[in-house]
Amino acid sequence: MKISRIITLASLPAILLLAAYFYVQAMRAVRMVDATEFCMGTVVRIKVPLVSGMDETDIRRAMDMAFEEIARAESVFSIFREDSEISAINRLGPGEKLNISREVYDLIEKSVEYSKKTQGAFDITVKPLVDLWGRAKADRKLPSDDEVKTALLRVGYQYVELDRPGLSISFLRPGMALDMGGVAKGYAVDMAVKSLRESGVGNGIVSAGGDMYCLGRRSEQRPWRVGIRHPRDKGAIFKEVNVCDEAIDTSGDYEKYFILDGRRYSHIIDPRTGYPVGGDVASATVIAKDSATADILATSLCVLGRGGLDIAGSVEGVHAMIIMEKNGILKDEATDGFKKN
Ligand code: AMP
Ligand code: MG
Repeated sequence: MKISRIITLASLPAILLLAAYFYVQAMRAVRMVDATEFCMGTVVRIKVPLVSGMDETDIRRAMDMAFEEIARAESVFSIFREDSEISAINRLGPGEKLNISREVYDLIEKSVEYSKKTQGAFDITVKPLVDLWGRAKADRKLPSDDEVKTALLRVGYQYVELDRPGLSISFLRPGMALDMGGVAKGYAVDMAVKSLRESGVGNGIVSAGGDMYCLGRRSEQRPWRVGIRHPRDKGAIFKEVNVCDEAIDTSGDYEKYFILDGRRYSHIIDPRTGYPVGGDVASATVIAKDSATADILATSLCVLGRGGLDIAGSVEGVHAMIIMEKNGILKDEATDGFKKN
């Protein structure tokens, strides 16, 4: 027998093993139906694995309906649209009452509940401060302490009066206004997920900027695996986590911010002081049963820092991690549930 034939025969098991490996990998590679749209000022992406049960046409139809839900949520909660319900609320004078839809009532009530839980770190009445700091960014000039104090007089969830039987809202102080920017994207993701489920889609992801929900699994063999962005190295992943029928949202100081006189000013404001958060939290990631909760808590943790981890961890189904930066060195801290992931 020739030497070369002996070698070929000897390596046959290895070749068969390799072939089996690639066959299994090919079976694992699930085709995804993927669509992207620009809404709510960000890129919204829906991805659904093409597995048994639904064909691509059915999935695309379900995705279109989910995108419509996001557009509908945006038209209700946007502060940039004069005809939204939130804009109508923002035109209220002190003591004036407005009847609102149950949907808007529920999200405002949930937000106020979390204002209480977070000791005021999360507050949708933050709009006068958001506007003040927005002008600072545009004019490249910081507001005076007096201007901050004056804006603070118009901020405070305690001055929002909600009447559930009558489904109405009123402000107890003049000049108040709502900004749902810290929760609306997460809520819209939840609405899209609800729509997908109603259409029979049991697996997929919906993502809008830093807010994401993972439905079911990526495939029978694999859960969805989500990369948490590195807050200081664009394009790099800091950590990966498995997410299954849960939302995962990240807020940070690295996307929307401005730098003035060498200082970084975040788009997240501490409603208790009136100043943009300037502590050492570079980003906060929250896993929760729904995306609105994850969105609220991710924003809250950017204000609260590590002290907020206990608050977040006390909410059922919530796991959280914050990445802190001190003198250029990053350090992460997480709830026990997050560490177990
Ligand atoms: P997010 O990107 O989810 O962290 O939300 C940030 C947005 O929420 C900002 O652009 C503001 O519109 C709004 N916002 C800023 N600070 C707060 C706060 N402390 N509580 C609630 N909403 C806030
Ligand atoms: Mg948020």
